Amino acid sequence: VLNAEARSATTHLAADADEPAPVAVEVHGVHKWYGAHRVLDGIDLTVAAGEVTVVLGPSGSGKSTLLRVINHLEQPTLGHVSLGGEPIGVRWHRGRLRELSERQILTQRGRIGFVFQNFNLFPHLTVLENVAAAPVATGLQRRTEAEQSARELLDRVGLGEKADAYPRQLSGGQQQRVAIARALAQRPGVILFDEPTSALDPELVGEVLAVIKDLAAGGTTLVIVTHEIGFAREVADRVVFMDGGRIVEQGTPAEVLDRPRHPRTQEFLSRVL
Ligand code: ADP
Ligand code: MG
Repeated sequence: VLNAEARSATTHLAADADEPAPVAVEVHGVHKWYGAHRVLDGIDLTVAAGEVTVVLGPSGSGKSTLLRVINHLEQPTLGHVSLGGEPIGVRWHRGRLRELSERQILTQRGRIGFVFQNFNLFPHLTVLENVAAAPVATGLQRRTEAEQSARELLDRVGLGEKADAYPRQLSGGQQQRVAIARALAQRPGVILFDEPTSALDPELVGEVLAVIKDLAAGGTTLVIVTHEIGFAREVADRVVFMDGGRIVEQGTPAEVLDRPRHPRTQEFLSRVL
């Protein structure tokens, strides 16, 4: 397994030295208000293709809202998000952003994988059906093809044997690995993780982090909200620290975790480390 530095070195060798890595996700001036409550306060964030971004911050700082805005599960009050240069959920019309149709939004959302804290598997579907459902529903693959890919993805997360089980028959760690396979099935441009291990018993955290590390080493673009600082240090190319709906500080793991400049970051890290 390559660590973040080895991976970026490999990327540099492969790419033209002067060419910047293509941008996967770009968050442009996003503000989000719920009534009079300001939750995101001017977020600008660029995630390069193949990069792993870890988002840290205290509870209530807006981390989940940011992921939900990227996925267009929430509409920003101001600003917008683009994926591979294409605005998500909106299009430009006479210099203004207009909402796309629900159907167009669903198509775009298919290009963004989302892994939730509580797995959110379909309880009435088998593991295989959970993984194969979306690519069939969206017309990406025919059923037999989708099931073949789903078996390969389940092997990749170490659950090839569980294809015919139902979610309730699995441990939390196994369910989360199925959720990751399901996110991969759509061949997304980026996968967003919202505290993927915080609902797990401590002994099950490692198996899920190992699968995420494997994706990172394979060059999948990931944005991960987590409180696992050791994991952030190991896999992140970039660490973003949020507080009060703003990005207070961002940089390499060494910069943000070992030499935080902002007092808020220092205080947060002193509490969680
Ligand atoms: P985090 O994930 O960092 O804990 P959230 O993004 O979940 O933070 O929430 C940030 C703030 O926004 C919190 O104060 C929360 O109560 C508020 N919030 C989140 N979702 C909603 C909503 N749908 N309606 C009203 N307030 C919300
Ligand atoms: Mg949250």
